[in-house]
Amino acid sequence: MERYDYVVLGGGSGGLASARRAAKLGAKVAVVEPNALGGTCVNRGCVPKKVMWSAAQLLECLADMPDYGLDARLEGISWSRLKAARDAYVARLNDIYARNLAHDGAVRIEGRGTIVGREPAHGFVVAIGDRRVAAPQVLVATGGRPHLPAVPGVEHGITSDGFFMLEARPESVAIVGGGYIAMELAGIFRAFGSRVTIALRHDEVLRRFDAMVRTGLHEALVESGVEIVTAFEIAGATRGQDGRVTLGALDGRCITGIDALVWAIGREASSAGLGLRELGVALDDEGHVVVDDWQSTNVPGIHAVGDVTGRWTLTPVAIAAGRKLAERLFGGDAEARLEYECIPSVVFSHPPIGTVGLTEEDARRLHGDAVKVYASRFTDSYHGVTKRRPKTAMKVVTVGAEERVVGIHVIGRSADEIIQGFAVAVRMGARKRDLDRTVAIHPTAGEELVTLR
Ligand code: FAD
Ligand code: NDP
Repeated sequence: MERYDYVVLGGGSGGLASARRAAKLGAKVAVVEPNALGGTCVNRGCVPKKVMWSAAQLLECLADMPDYGLDARLEGISWSRLKAARDAYVARLNDIYARNLAHDGAVRIEGRGTIVGREPAHGFVVAIGDRRVAAPQVLVATGGRPHLPAVPGVEHGITSDGFFMLEARPESVAIVGGGYIAMELAGIFRAFGSRVTIALRHDEVLRRFDAMVRTGLHEALVESGVEIVTAFEIAGATRGQDGRVTLGALDGRCITGIDALVWAIGREASSAGLGLRELGVALDDEGHVVVDDWQSTNVPGIHAVGDVTGRWTLTPVAIAAGRKLAERLFGGDAEARLEYECIPSVVFSHPPIGTVGLTEEDARRLHGDAVKVYASRFTDSYHGVTKRRPKTAMKVVTVGAEERVVGIHVIGRSADEIIQGFAVAVRMGARKRDLDRTVAIHPTAGEELVTLR
């Protein structure tokens, strides 16, 4: 039996961040991970997605170049070369993550971990194959995986994991879902010239987002040639003799001739097979590990961070929660915890969306008439000379006589970079007059947020 102070199940965003912080604080740490280090974000999420998004941005710029008087010809698109470059970048990151972990003094154990019981002297016992390790503190950071619909022919579709394995651009794509992943993949495929259809079970994309960005993205998708079908409740998928897929709806409608069908209907927690139920660790109805404000479960000594908890399933959230937990357990900071407030996020759609805080709808539900909203819709100066004229839209949601800013929503070029700085202001409790007192930077898109009337 190998003894540690802290055993971390999962070498993804949350697990690695917590393990490294604990090791730096002097704890003896082991990270158990069956796959390449870095988890979803590095291997089949944020990182390779951002490469594809950047490539799609380049293609859009290329299309705009003649309008700038710049003659440029696209000689061809090599999806396979792009994939090779992307995979090499991910492999470099895998190595860097392994080196960083070793540098901080944590041990990496390759394999799948299961908590198999308790050891009176040293806490919990984790089995990795035949190997046994024990620790008084165990972190569950096993993330999640794509959720699949329970319909016939589900095997004819791929998920975001399969997207990153595509060796060539599919000619015709159907994406089921209207969330982050559906929006991001739709924009990438479209920029690469695929025919794209989005199938929504309701009638709007990004239903939990502010109405301004929902409408803005819907319009931009349609403008770019993406077809959106609504109230499409999937019945199943079939593959024809020609290898192409047909997606059927319960009401009889069909989307035909699909080369790549993508299921993007949410993700589920990887909480099974970890020995959690056997230990009495509480899981919610969807299988998420239930944690308190300090990331601890109902079983003392077992903690969880990241996607497996289902709270704000974003990489920086998993990282921040994991680090805070390590500081509480090994750094003597009894109050260390992540405050799940004002968490900014970006949808890397085309155009991108940046958002922090309450939507206008949520603010009105909570604060009624005390809500005052400032909004603007304009054409970014980049598009001053282009034929393509997508709109940028911004909204600041305030509450009370003080006009405290409780939400900022942006859709448009550079929204992904603009929102981070404004998230600091919202986190600090900025009021509308603080935005007004800030001198603009001209000519930028972001200046609009400090000049709203
Ligand atoms: P993960 O990173 O998933 O790590 C969990 C690890 O646990 C995995 O490596 C897994 O192999 C391992 N594991 C599972 N079972 C066991 C076991 N029994 N024993 C040991 N190890 C185990 N977030 C953003 O903030 N920005 C983005 O742009 C973004 N883009 C995304 C794009 C896509 C396509 C997807 C799918 C997700 C994206 N996300 C993004 C979300 C982000 O990837 C996750 O929120 C983040 O990776 C969660 O980190 P985690 O540590 O909880 O889990
Ligand atoms: P989301 O929760 O964002 O969206 C799920 C979508 O699937 C919704 O549009 C939902 O529709 C739809 N849906 C759910 N069930 C069904 C069904 N049975 N049939 C048809 N449609 C269905 O999930 P994603 O998978 O897109 O992403 C998972 C999470 O990963 C995100 O929530 C985010 O936290 C993270 N992520 C973050 C990214 C980023 O930071 N840029 C990028 C990618 C992922 P409806 O709205 O109508 O209920």
